[in-house]
Amino acid sequence: MTTQAHLDQITADIINQNICPDLAKTATNLVPGKGNPNADIVFIGEAPGKKEDLTGEPFVGAAGRFLDEMLATIQLKRSDIFITNIVKYRPPNNRDPLPEEKKAFLPFLQAQLEVIQPKIVVTLGRHSMNCFLPDLQISKIHGEPQRITLAHGHQTGNDLQIVILPLYHPAAALYNGGMRATLLDDFARIPAIMKKIHN
Ligand code: URA
Repeated sequence: MTTQAHLDQITADIINQNICPDLAKTATNLVPGKGNPNADIVFIGEAPGKKEDLTGEPFVGAAGRFLDEMLATIQLKRSDIFITNIVKYRPPNNRDPLPEEKKAFLPFLQAQLEVIQPKIVVTLGRHSMNCFLPDLQISKIHGEPQRITLAHGHQTGNDLQIVILPLYHPAAALYNGGMRATLLDDFARIPAIMKKIHN
């Protein structure tokens, strides 16, 4: 099976297993994630917003445009990376995802990572970071790569070693000058971190 076919199977599993039926009822589309199935770098946001819900694609609103600008500063395009969210349906009125919603989608996020096998996983915002690093604070560790092990892979049954880079969420940084500058600084470190992981 190709990597893309594997990812399509994970999307089908979310639908067939009726994950978060209440969110599915109020959502227009499932937003499973998009991009290069063989990417070295995966970005993980929180949950789809209004525009993402309408199009079925992640990060297509204002935060997405800011993300594209930051990607361009390190010579990356959407087609080079894969982007997804923890929760793959829009929560009503963009409320924060509930702990049980994050928990319900986590095995599918883990399965996507196992299939893509990225060198680095960039979490956007504290919700995304806390899925992997529940006890850490984003204000303390943003921009610092963290090596973690995900136990019992969904696809293979094996543990999966990944490097997480926690960053602030672009939507939070858009209208906060200090956070925006920090996010840009952290983003600029990505190429050097990737290079170090490759070696
Ligand atoms: N914010 C997110 O966390 N995810 C999206 O897909 C869009 C905005």
